[in-house]
Amino acid sequence: MSGRTQARACPERTCVGCRERAAKSDLLRIVAIEDECVPDPRGTLPGRGAYVHPAVVCLDQAVRRRAFPRALRSAGALDTTDLRNAVAGKAGTTA
Ligand SMILES: [Zn+2]
Repeated sequence: MSGRTQARACPERTCVGCRERAAKSDLLRIVAIEDECVPDPRGTLPGRGAYVHPAVVCLDQAVRRRAFPRALRSAGALDTTDLRNAVAGKAGTTA
């Protein structure tokens, strides 16, 4: 086996929707910009990030349990309309 270093080079994050752990690369990073949740697929935006599967089911679960304001340390509710549209659109093409 030559892939000894590969397993360690794969950081895991917990999806804030279904609470399952997954490779960071399989999850979509979300950051809060003002009062809005913004997808950060490249992981380049500054600030705290929350991770969720790029799937509407996980997104809806996260919204329902108010996981985004909690994970992103936001005082108030966060708008997820654009985020949901982005995820729903992407899911439609890949699933
Ligand atoms: Zn999930």
